[in-house]
Amino acid sequence: MRPVIENLKAKEVKVGRELAEAIIETRTLKATLDTPCPECGSPLRIMKSRTTGKRFIGCSGAWTSNCRFSLPLPQLGTIKLLDSQCQRCGFQLVMTKRIKMKPMISCPRCYVTKLNKNNVYGGD
Ligand SMILES: [Zn+2]
Ligand SMILES: [Zn+2]
Repeated sequence: MRPVIENLKAKEVKVGRELAEAIIETRTLKATLDTPCPECGSPLRIMKSRTTGKRFIGCSGAWTSNCRFSLPLPQLGTIKLLDSQCQRCGFQLVMTKRIKMKPMISCPRCYVTKLNKNNVYGGD
């Protein structure tokens, strides 16, 4: 009987942790960024696409001023908005935390700039 009980306990702990992660993620999904939209000045929010289920940073002016500004976010782990800004572009920094991995701090705007650099702008 003993191994069975131990097994159950281990399972309980795992479920509890997953639940906690889900709660943090739901809270973060409603978060508003400190940095306003660089294109229209409306607040930026963490949103989730209804069609793809992917999360991203979207402009709340999308409904009022038709602003299409958006930035991609990592799809794995929990996301936390930090109180500090990127030294290069001034955008609010985002921390991604995955279980058993070191937290990763990144600037969503510089990430996109880096992606575009090679094929669109060809420079800084
Ligand atoms: Zn905007
Ligand atoms: Zn940046």
